[in-house]
Amino acid sequence: MANYEEIMMISKDNYMYAMIRSELAWVLGEENVSSDDSERLGHSIDYYWIPEMWHDRGKTPPAPDFIVHPGSAGEVAGVLQIANKHKIPVIPWGGGSGSQGGALPIYGGIALDTKRMNHVLNIDVKSLTVTAETGINTQHLEWAVQKAGYSTMHFPASIACATLGGFLAHRGTGVLSTKYGKIEDMTMALEVVTPTGEIINTLPVPRHASGPDLTQMFLGSEGTLGVMTKATLKIHPVPEARKFHAFLFKDMHAALAAGAKIMTSRLRPCVIRVYDEAETAKLIKRVLGIDKKGAYLVCGFDGPLKMVELEIQLACAICRRENSEDLGAEMGQSWWDNRYKFFYPPYTFQLPQAFGTLDTVATFANIENVYWAMKKTVAGNFPQATFIGHFSHWYEWGCMLYARFIIDAPPEDPLAAAALYNKIWDMAIRAAIKEGGVINEHHGVGLKLGRMMKDLYGPAFKVLAGIKASLDPNNIMNPGKMGFEGI
Ligand SMILES: Cc1cc2nc3c(=O)[nH]c(=O)nc-3n(C[C@H](O)[C@H](O)[C@H](O)COP(=O)(O)OP(=O)(O)OC[C@H]3O[C@@H](n4cnc5c(N)ncnc54)[C@H](O)[C@@H]3O)c2cc1C
Repeated sequence: MANYEEIMMISKDNYMYAMIRSELAWVLGEENVSSDDSERLGHSIDYYWIPEMWHDRGKTPPAPDFIVHPGSAGEVAGVLQIANKHKIPVIPWGGGSGSQGGALPIYGGIALDTKRMNHVLNIDVKSLTVTAETGINTQHLEWAVQKAGYSTMHFPASIACATLGGFLAHRGTGVLSTKYGKIEDMTMALEVVTPTGEIINTLPVPRHASGPDLTQMFLGSEGTLGVMTKATLKIHPVPEARKFHAFLFKDMHAALAAGAKIMTSRLRPCVIRVYDEAETAKLIKRVLGIDKKGAYLVCGFDGPLKMVELEIQLACAICRRENSEDLGAEMGQSWWDNRYKFFYPPYTFQLPQAFGTLDTVATFANIENVYWAMKKTVAGNFPQATFIGHFSHWYEWGCMLYARFIIDAPPEDPLAAAALYNKIWDMAIRAAIKEGGVINEHHGVGLKLGRMMKDLYGPAFKVLAGIKASLDPNNIMNPGKMGFEGI
């Protein structure tokens, strides 16, 4: 990156600024290239707590030199070719709702905002797939598919503020993942613009024996291996029925055992969520009004009515055998109706509080140990922090822990606040990894957790670094993220 380091820190007084801006405008049109201060600031803060806090304390986070708004894969390719020539970082930017600092322009460069690429291109009602550009807002995608009588079944809490590309880049997930999968299970095929500006397509079907799976290689690459410009996803008929039921267990251990039993009995719930005692007391009480001690569990099933009724009956029998209090269908339905509320004011945490979602995933054999290791680490070392958690995405073999720490009054000094924040993350995630957890389940690695990638992967990290080096010889794509080299 010698050129960029030597010449850039582009200021509008530098003639290189004018050169690069002209080249970008030739490809995109003048109206799709910006270096306005308001747009630069808007593309310098995502949902990662550190830049939010930094800005809140009156400090200026690093900003991109240019924001570009390409309207097609061809225009993205043009931008990447210019960036390679000048060796300028390019950072894909979708909705900016990522929590890991993945879209932050830490070295300046070009923020490539994907939101003009927002079209639904095809709905194939024979195969039940939808093909769309990746800058589309995920709620708009769902509405378009619903209009045709189907659903993506992708219902994340950020459905209204994130793009399809952001989910593909982070291996994101929605509330019905237990039946319909995470985004990587929903994806059939991708169009990608590689860092050197070639437009490629992965194979059109997700199951084959024609070599390793390139679709899965680009999913989760967080803008470091190129820009995903189109995706084909599975879609589903709208189910005849979707029903929920809630239980209260004496403790989290009993609720987890019931959840695991539902999954290992090979029932097919669309939702299971288990809240630990602390989150039941805090958020289930505030959002759903259930003021009881214990661990709240909700499960849901959808599909043909007869099957839903049978499966819910079998799941309820499992829960009752674990000595739970039956809270009924209404208290389950109430969870579904309020499912996004948990993540928005006034129910979520907000500045000046410091908070982080330590999400991880492990097998049923390990998940409780992961929970206790994290909780002991946070409570034992940081008495100012509260630890709460729930288990939201369930698999045949294990489940995901959505643990959070909250500090009501972090240090006023931004350097001290950032140091404390990083220390909690470091200790808690390393404790989870020791017990069989991983760095992250669906929010990604980004800037926040990149330092732990080499430890998580061991010698296998070289494989990831080799793929990165071969696809991106000038290291222009989102440098310094996901554990890869900065500039
Ligand atoms: C209130 C709230 C609730 C949330 N709930 C959920 C949830 O339920 N489930 C969940 O999974 N996440 C959730 N998140 C996190 C966030 O919404 C997701 O990570 C989402 O996938 C980010 O999408 P985005 O378009 O905002 O991506 P951005 O934040 O803009 O970017 C995220 C990363 O993806 C890269 N990127 C973006 N587009 C592309 C592309 N086309 N090609 C290549 N790389 C690209 C960026 O460079 C960056 O590294 C939540 C966030 C908030 C604020």
